Amino acid sequence: MKKPVIGISGSEVTIQAGPFMGEPRTYVNAAYVDSVYQNGGIPLVIPFTKGGEEMALEQMKLVDGLILSGGHDVDPHLYGEEIDQKSGATWPDRDQFDIALLKAAEGANKPVLGICRGAQIINVAHGGSMWQDLSLRPGHTLKHMQATRPDVGTHLVKIKSGTNLEKIMGQSSLMTNSFHHQVIKEVAPDLVEAATASDGVTEALESDDGQVIAVQWHPEEMHANPAPEAAIMNRLFKNLIDRANEEK
Ligand code: MN
Repeated sequence: MKKPVIGISGSEVTIQAGPFMGEPRTYVNAAYVDSVYQNGGIPLVIPFTKGGEEMALEQMKLVDGLILSGGHDVDPHLYGEEIDQKSGATWPDRDQFDIALLKAAEGANKPVLGICRGAQIINVAHGGSMWQDLSLRPGHTLKHMQATRPDVGTHLVKIKSGTNLEKIMGQSSLMTNSFHHQVIKEVAPDLVEAATASDGVTEALESDDGQVIAVQWHPEEMHANPAPEAAIMNRLFKNLIDRANEEK
C-alpha cells in the first residue's frame, strides 16, 4: 500500500551570503520533513507561490494531508486590527497562500495539522483573533518564547477532557517547547480550544470532527529527542498520517 503524502507549507528565507545573496529561497526546517518520514508518511514541501486559490487547489491534489508550518506573524488586518508596535514581521502573501491551502484541504476532507503560526493562521482564517504580543495580554503570562534549545519542553500544557487531542496524545497533560510571542485571543467560533498552558494561554485548537488539529508549540523539534516526554510528540504526526491514509 502506498504511504500517504503529507504536504508541508513552505516559507522563504533570504540568502545571507555568496553569489545569490539577497535572493529568497524556498525552505522548511528539516525537522518537519523528518517528523513525517519517521512516522511513516511521504513528506513533500509545498512551495509558496503567488498563484492564489487556483494554485493551492492544484498543490493540494498532490498530497493526502497538510502540515501548516511555522513562521511570520499573521497580518492583524485579517482580524480587523492595525499593526501594534510590538507585532513582529508579517507577510500578507504567505497568509493568503496558507489560507488557500487550508481551504483546499478542508474542501477535500484532507487532514490538517497546524503548528505554531499554522495554528494561528487556522484560528484567524476561521474568524478568531490574536494578542499581537504576549505583553499585551492581561494577567500573568509565562515565558512562551523559550531560551532553552528547541527539543526540550519548558512549560506544561493541560489537554481538555473529551477532545480529539486527548485521544491522540493519550494523556491529559504534557511538557511542550514554546516559541511564540503572539497568543490566541478569541478562539474562532467553529473551533474548540483543546489545551491551555498553566497561565490560561491557548495552546491547541481543533475542529469538532478532528479533521483540523492545531498546536501552538513545535512538536517537530521535539520528535527526535528520545526522552519519553519528548518522543510522545511523534503521536501527532502518526495520527496525521493515519488520518491521511483513511482519506486517501
Ligand atoms: Mn506556549
